[in-house]
Amino acid sequence: MHNSEDREANSAVLGLDIGGTKLAAGVVGADGTIHSFLVTPTLVEEGVQTVLARLFDLGHKAMNESGLALGGIAAVGIGCGGPLDPEAGVLLCPPHLPGWVDVPITRLTEDRYGLPAVLDNDATAAAAGEHRFGAGRGTRHMIYLTVSTGVGGGIVVDGRTYRGAAGNGGELGHVTVDRHGRHCRGCGRAGCLEAYVSGTSIAERAREAVAEAEAAGRPTTLSACLPLTAADVSREAAAGDAVATQVWVATTQAMADGVTSLVNVFEPELVVLGGGVTRAGEQLLAPVRRIVRERAMGPAARAVRIEPARSGDRVGVVGAAAVALERAVTTITGPEGNPLHG
Ligand SMILES: [Zn+2]
Repeated sequence: MHNSEDREANSAVLGLDIGGTKLAAGVVGADGTIHSFLVTPTLVEEGVQTVLARLFDLGHKAMNESGLALGGIAAVGIGCGGPLDPEAGVLLCPPHLPGWVDVPITRLTEDRYGLPAVLDNDATAAAAGEHRFGAGRGTRHMIYLTVSTGVGGGIVVDGRTYRGAAGNGGELGHVTVDRHGRHCRGCGRAGCLEAYVSGTSIAERAREAVAEAEAAGRPTTLSACLPLTAADVSREAAAGDAVATQVWVATTQAMADGVTSLVNVFEPELVVLGGGVTRAGEQLLAPVRRIVRERAMGPAARAVRIEPARSGDRVGVVGAAAVALERAVTTITGPEGNPLHG
């Protein structure tokens, strides 16, 4: 037992994050120390081969800049939007990377670096990162939501990252909050949480509210902020604009409805909220906490804390590193480790 624990404590891993607009790479220690962190634009229009070459070069640079000897890096973790096959290590057809069909990303990564590599959904990886290094440290049952352009989710049950039968579970943004509601761009159904609280939806609903207010002759400070972002809405709501406030209140209520359902289902100790929209901080968290406490079932409502994520803009790399430590490093240390299906 000592051996595997020592080896894990000493090892660092390379985390790679493949986003639609940015690629990121960094070396992260088993204790969460970030030894290096680099970002470059994805430029997805350049095609799979060119983007992958740039990603692998970035990873190489991150390893060099970490100051660690090559032998000090034990594995590579890769986070990417789904759908993907985390067991086979294949990107199936992620919508943010048009043309990337059936890309065997872990094999290509292993060939390039000569290190074991693992692939996970980026939101699942982010949940693993928050659980291992961030707000969820020490919890057994944790739910993670990332609220940005879309809404992603991750689940930790009994201290383990939950992936579902084919590795694409945890799509918490597609919990229904209104079955007669708005169209969900992410999955095509109606009334998903994502269709109300994503940054895209907040901006879209705000534009609709501005058009309505202008038609009714009611002035709003949002008119000066067109084409509008979620940050404009939260800022103008905080400043007291009635239209922005109405949009923001509807956002926090939808968020609270979604989180209440998740709290009732999982009875987690902690719900972690991350992603760009959560930069609004207490303006989002405080009403969500209050409503969830009122509406979730008693024991679950009392058990849960709702806290902001801690990984910030390094969440992709930290998450990828966390799944590498979980799936690759502990697995190769032998039977006492804690492999994916151990
Ligand atoms: Zn949906």
